[in-house]
Amino acid sequence: MDDTTREALVAALQGGAPIVCYAQCVPCQFGQCRPTPTPHPWAGPDDIEHAAATGRPEPTGNCACDCARVES
Ligand SMILES: [Zn+2]
Ligand SMILES: [Zn+2]
Repeated sequence: MDDTTREALVAALQGGAPIVCYAQCVPCQFGQCRPTPTPHPWAGPDDIEHAAATGRPEPTGNCACDCARVES
């Protein structure tokens, strides 16, 4: 997690920003990045299930990892 991501997470936790924007998917959190950069959502089945179980909106948004960015 780089500093920008950390700051965004802190801001989100403090209510200053939507929390969906700076999350990484589980494989990326464990360093299993896509070999080829490909946009992909950060939320996995577990996240969607958890959101449904806790009455939150379904998670949306792309993974914040570098391997989810294709602009060069
Ligand atoms: Zn990812
Ligand atoms: Zn990644």
